[in-house]
Amino acid sequence: MTRRPSEWGVVFDLDDTLLYTSPTFEAGVLRLSLLLQTLGLEDEEVRSRLLTIDLERINELGYGKARWPESMGLAYRSFVNDQKLPGYDPALERRCVEIGWETYEIHPELKPGAREVLEGLRPHARLVLATRGDEELQGRRIDHAGLRHHFDAMYFMEWKTPETYGALLQEQGFDPRKTFIIGDAIRSDINPALSLGAHAILVRGQNWEHERVDPLEGHFHEIDDLEEIPPIILRAMGVHAG
Ligand SMILES: [Mg+2]
Repeated sequence: MTRRPSEWGVVFDLDDTLLYTSPTFEAGVLRLSLLLQTLGLEDEEVRSRLLTIDLERINELGYGKARWPESMGLAYRSFVNDQKLPGYDPALERRCVEIGWETYEIHPELKPGAREVLEGLRPHARLVLATRGDEELQGRRIDHAGLRHHFDAMYFMEWKTPETYGALLQEQGFDPRKTFIIGDAIRSDINPALSLGAHAILVRGQNWEHERVDPLEGHFHEIDDLEEIPPIILRAMGVHAG
C-alpha cells in the first residue's frame, strides 16, 4: 500500500469508544452478584472482590479472553477461603465461570453517531482501529456492529503503550502531528498519544479503567458525544466542515 506522508491518520479505540462494552461486563457482574447473594453475600462485597481480583490479573495476564471468566470462579473461591461461603462446591464454581463466558455472548451496542463519524472522516483521513483483547472476540464485535469496512487497518494489541502505539504509527506511516488517537482510557489511549506528540480525544463515559490518571500535556480534547469528533479533527486539518 502506498502511503502519502501528507495524509492524516485517525486511530480509534473500540470498547467504550465506538461500542458500549462496559454494560455487557456490568450484566455479568450483576448475574454473579445475584447468584452469590442467594448464598448470603452482599452485592457490594461481590463487586469489589471480583474487580480487585480481575484488576490484579489484568496486570499479570493482560486482556486475554479466559481471564474474565476465570476471575469470576476465583472470586467465588476466595469467598470460600475466607469462610464467607460454606463448603467448596465445584458445580457452583463452574456456574460462576460460565457466567463469565456468557458475558461474551452479549454483543455490545454501537454508540450513537459512531457510523456517521467514521463515514464523515473517511474522505479526509486514513482510519485505523486499535483494540485490546482477543482477536476473535473483538473481530466478532466489530462485525456485529458492521464497522469493519470503515477501517483501512485494524490492530489487535496486547497492550496499549507509547511503544505499541508508536509502532502502529510508524507502520502506517503516520506523522504524530497529523494523527488523532481517540479513546476512553487516559492511561492506555490518551497518554500514549500525547507522549508521542499526537492529538488525543478522550471520549468520556463509562470506563473500565480502575485507576484515574491525569492526561499529559499536549493536544488534548475531551468530549461526551461522538458527533463532537469531526469538527475537532477537521479544524486541526484546516478543513471547514459543512
Ligand atoms: Mg476502551
